[in-house]
Amino acid sequence: MKAEKLSQERLLALQDLDSSLMQLEHKANNLPLSKLLDEKRLEFASARDLAVAASTERSDIKHELSKSELDVEQVLSRIEKDEKRLASGLGTPKELEQTQHELESLNKRRAELEDIELEVMVRLEGLDSRIAELSKRRDELSIEVDAITKDRDQALEQISQAVSATRSDRDALVKDIEAELLSLYEKIRSTSDGLAAVRLSDGKCQGCHLTMSAAELTRINALAIDELVRCEECRRILIRIT
Ligand SMILES: [Zn+2]
Repeated sequence: MKAEKLSQERLLALQDLDSSLMQLEHKANNLPLSKLLDEKRLEFASARDLAVAASTERSDIKHELSKSELDVEQVLSRIEKDEKRLASGLGTPKELEQTQHELESLNKRRAELEDIELEVMVRLEGLDSRIAELSKRRDELSIEVDAITKDRDQALEQISQAVSATRSDRDALVKDIEAELLSLYEKIRSTSDGLAAVRLSDGKCQGCHLTMSAAELTRINALAIDELVRCEECRRILIRIT
C-alpha cells in the first residue's frame, strides 16, 4: 500500500492517542482507590452485620431478663404470703412448721433466681458495650466509605476528562487519514494488542522488537518513502521516521 509521509506520521500520532486511551482505560479499571473502596465496603458490611446480630442477641437477652424478673416476683409474692401467714399465727403448729419449711426453700429459690437475674443483667451490660463499639466502628467505616467514594469518583472524573480530550483529538486526526490506511490500521490494532503503527528505529520493529537483518534493512531503505512497510514478523505498520 502507498501512503504519503505525512499520513504515516499521522498514523503514529494516532497510535499515540490510542495508546493513551488504552492506558487511561487501564488506569480507570485498576485504581488503587477502587480496591481500597471494595475492602472498606466489606469491612463496613461486616461491622454492620455484627451490630445487627448483637442487637438481635440483645432482644433475646432482654426477653430472658423479663422472664427472670417475673420468676423473682412470683417467688417474692409467695414469700410475702407465707410470712403473713406465719405472722398471723393462724393454723395448727404442724401447718405453721410446714409454712416455715416452705419459706426456707422459697428464700433459697429466691437467692438462686436473683443470681440468675444478676448474671443476665451482666451479660446485657456486656452486650450493650459491644453494641456501642460495633455501632461506632460501623459509623466510622461508613464515613470512610463515603470519603473514599468521593475521592474515587474524583479520580474517575479526571480520567474521564482526559479520555474525552484524547477522543476529540483523535476524532480531529482521523479526518485527515485516508480511509483505506485507517481501515488497515484498525484491523491490525484489533489483533495486535492495540499497537498497529510503530517506529522502525535502531534497525528494530518497535512493536515486536525484532531486529531486522541487514538485507531486510537495505531492502526497506531502498523503498520509496510513500511505500507502506510492514514488519515481516508481527505485520505491524513500520514507520520510517528518523
Ligand atoms: Zn514487528
